[in-house]
Amino acid sequence: MEIYPVKLQLVEPASLLIEWSDGRKQQFSHAELRSHCPCATCREKHAPGSPEPAAAPPPDQAVRVVSMKPAGNYAYCIALSDGHDSGIYTFEQLRGLGHEVLNA
Ligand SMILES: [Zn+2]
Repeated sequence: MEIYPVKLQLVEPASLLIEWSDGRKQQFSHAELRSHCPCATCREKHAPGSPEPAAAPPPDQAVRVVSMKPAGNYAYCIALSDGHDSGIYTFEQLRGLGHEVLNA
């Protein structure tokens, strides 16, 4: 069975909720999505063997998701408030992030 998001919801102050076609719900912080940005620039920066920057800036906890749009039928392109808009997050990747939300 193909699993796909049936509902996307921005949750204040800085989270994203995804409800999947199998009924699972997951919540992601915007900062978590940012730190897992799969775009070429970030992948390169995190590549093993690449020199560590002398003073890595702390992760930006204030970064926000500003838009999400479908990329094909397997992923979302997520634009972030720090100007990143080229990260393609596959459903598979998203399923491995965040934390599951149980129905109250
Ligand atoms: Zn990136």
